[in-house]
Amino acid sequence: MPHQNRGNLFILSAPSGAGKSSLIKALLERQDKVRVSVSHTTRAPRPGENNGEHYHFVSVDEFKALINQNDFFEWAQVFDNYYGTSKQAIENQLAQGIDVFMDIDWQGARQVRKLLPEVKTIFILPPSKQALEERLNNRGQDSQEIIASRMEQAKSECSHYNEFDYLLVNDDFETALHELEHIVVAARLELKKQQVSQQALIAELLK
Ligand code: GDP
Ligand code: ADP
Ligand code: 5GP
Repeated sequence: MPHQNRGNLFILSAPSGAGKSSLIKALLERQDKVRVSVSHTTRAPRPGENNGEHYHFVSVDEFKALINQNDFFEWAQVFDNYYGTSKQAIENQLAQGIDVFMDIDWQGARQVRKLLPEVKTIFILPPSKQALEERLNNRGQDSQEIIASRMEQAKSECSHYNEFDYLLVNDDFETALHELEHIVVAARLELKKQQVSQQALIAELLK
């Protein structure tokens, strides 16, 4: 009977519109034992976003109360809103051997790297600036003003690409999804993980 490992923790970062949410959603449909961490945010829900599913939508006061209670694993101000990952959003799942994906910005990635150096971090680039702008427009969920501000922020978000372990270009969606799956599978095959899950086999072969 294989022994249970803790799940792996992954961070996916990218400029807004590069495809993080779409890639994570597709990955969850393809891979068992992968979940996404649901963040808290003070931004307003977009059409079609549900509380507790896409985000926990809270007021600024509620967010600050959570900070004071030390409930956050990490938090950051992104654009004009607060975003944060509660400890609860990741800990139980990792303990059950489930891999957890965090869709967080580079500031959050820095905090998590300090707390858990074994975290695997992935940065997603769009295939071009023009494609990024088209995707933000086609998504059709943000105002022109918000899209313009996110395009402006894209350069500063992208400037942190070299702090990450893996760099993917989300041009053809299926290709990017496959590449992401390979990272998840490879992490499960690392020696220190296999030494736990294949403990009985290794013991038998070395007897
Ligand atoms: P998107 O970029 O179009 O997916 O827009 P969102 O409003 O969903 O996310 C805005 C920014 O906040 C992105 O850079 C996310 O990576 C970041 N973000 C979302 N959740 C978290 C979180 O829990 N912690 C941190 N640090 N950043 C987050
Ligand atoms: P993010 O979460 O990084 O802000 P989304 O996952 O919301 O980005 O993607 C932004 C938009 O681009 C969505 O409308 C999505 O359907 C589209 N999109 C994502 N990946 C691709 C791709 N490889 N080719 C074309 N469109 C894409
Ligand atoms: P959006 O408002 O478009 O959903 O997200 C905007 C940005 O905030 C994205 O880059 C997303 O990765 C980041 N973000 C979302 N949740 C969190 C979070 O909990 N922590 C941090 N640090 N960033 C987050």
